[in-house]
Amino acid sequence: TNRTFTMIKPDAVEDGHIGAILEKITASGFRIVALKLTQMTVADAQEFYAVHSERPFYGELVEFMSRGPIVAAILEKENAVEDFRTLIGATNPADAAEGTIRKMYAKSVGENAVHGSDSDENAAIEGAFHFSGREMF
Ligand code: ATP
Repeated sequence: TNRTFTMIKPDAVEDGHIGAILEKITASGFRIVALKLTQMTVADAQEFYAVHSERPFYGELVEFMSRGPIVAAILEKENAVEDFRTLIGATNPADAAEGTIRKMYAKSVGENAVHGSDSDENAAIEGAFHFSGREMF
């Protein structure tokens, strides 16, 4: 098995979808290794998304991701990174497959309800950004 990292983003938390999204994740075979409600500061969001710092949407992304609480989680499953990205669907909900989390809960390409790591390496980096060893089970 391997691990991925996810965030339920501020839009989906504001809209009351934490329970439904966690239910869909666990029903899809992911084990929750770490879980918390937290909020990123502007500086946290700038660092977390530093890879996108040259993109035109960077400022908007940082403002969005720091505007309210998120749910951060580490998830375990065979083929976790790829299977989780399949479960969440395309970045833009207009392109996301029927039944995916973004199809169900995302509002736009920016406010798209959930994050999913894009590689095993980034899953480890992103998980360590949010959780200490004592918070992982
Ligand atoms: P994530 O990394 O959140 O799982 P992703 O890998 O599907 O998303 P990326 O292209 O890495 O998408 O973009 C990271 C995030 O930046 C997106 O999830 C979205 O919140 C935001 N974003 C991407 N494209 C745009 C855009 N054109 N306008 C506004 N925000 C965007």
